[in-house]
Amino acid sequence: MSNFFRFDLHKMDGAARLSTLHTPHGPIEMPAFAPVGTLANVKTLEPRDLQEAGCALILANTYHLYLRPGHALIQKLGGLHGFMGWHGPMLTDSGGFQVFSLAHQRKLDENGVTFRSHIDGSAHYFTPEKVMEIEQALGPDIAMVLDECAEPLNYAYNQQALERTHRWAERCKVAHTRADQALFGIVQGGIFPDLRQASAQFLQTLDFPGYAIGGLAVGETKPEMYATLDVTCPLLPTDKPRYLMGVGAPEDIVEAVYRGVDLFDCVLPTRIARNGALLTPDGRLNIKNAQYATDPRPLQEDCGCYTCRTFSRAYLRHLYKAGEISALRFGTIHNVYFMMELMRQIRAALQAGTYADFRSAFLQRYQITNQAVRHEQRERYLARPRS
Ligand SMILES: [Zn+2]
Repeated sequence: MSNFFRFDLHKMDGAARLSTLHTPHGPIEMPAFAPVGTLANVKTLEPRDLQEAGCALILANTYHLYLRPGHALIQKLGGLHGFMGWHGPMLTDSGGFQVFSLAHQRKLDENGVTFRSHIDGSAHYFTPEKVMEIEQALGPDIAMVLDECAEPLNYAYNQQALERTHRWAERCKVAHTRADQALFGIVQGGIFPDLRQASAQFLQTLDFPGYAIGGLAVGETKPEMYATLDVTCPLLPTDKPRYLMGVGAPEDIVEAVYRGVDLFDCVLPTRIARNGALLTPDGRLNIKNAQYATDPRPLQEDCGCYTCRTFSRAYLRHLYKAGEISALRFGTIHNVYFMMELMRQIRAALQAGTYADFRSAFLQRYQITNQAVRHEQRERYLARPRS
């Protein structure tokens, strides 16, 4: 790592890790969860809300910001930090996932990927060098290499995609020159242990300052995801941070920390908040349900967030049912706070050496949302036009 970054592994509890990643914009106490601000904005929240919740790290999406308003403009206005008024650590993805899930008329070749914008149909070409130019202009503390996201269950596709992803990782490493930005490699390989092993081994020859596990939470089952983490985490160096991309269901975070993951990001807590699905230690509560119409209690009795300190369930339900903008904001404030509080509890349990007990108690109480409901929510989300 350069002088701008330092990773301190404080303690292990089984395979779980308590650590700090120091970045140019401050430390990230890990395990940590990063809310997603796709368009340089965590929808409905302000930087001071994020600070109040205890967020250390915010993620923004390279694909979206490249298309609108453009990385050159953001660079001119002080990079992402200056542009959005957030002065804590930031991370950008490479845009690869969005190119493979959102863009139109995608065409892949050895040098990169051609696609059409989902906004206006304009043609664009992402190469590893282009993506490094964009991420270095955006200026987050952590940038990600361009990779190809294959379907996790297709062996032949993953095998083929992996070789190209490795060549792209090498080119990203060469093109990346900002010392005040850490470039993380991404281990791919679907649910296949031999491919994950090949990927982890190859990427370590490039000596990245951190490693992400990509290609999960995109269609495989939970047992398949956990089994893949069981295989992949031990393949990664102990003295570098480990980042599980796109995973943010509380139960998945608890399970992934248990297996040795340090860092997470996901749109889930903020997206479902806007639909009225609010997180509690017992599972998701749908505030729009009729049973809350006259309920005077706070959303979560022991929550310290502004929403729970101020409003009743009945009032929140009224705002959602009436379509008030504040409903989305109050729900998001709570869900982000819930995630930060979960991470604080996880770190406290690791500090105390009681993580196994914390995990069983959490999973026993937290009612996991039915897979069919989750799938339906995901399909509806993917089918929706994006802004
Ligand atoms: Zn709350």
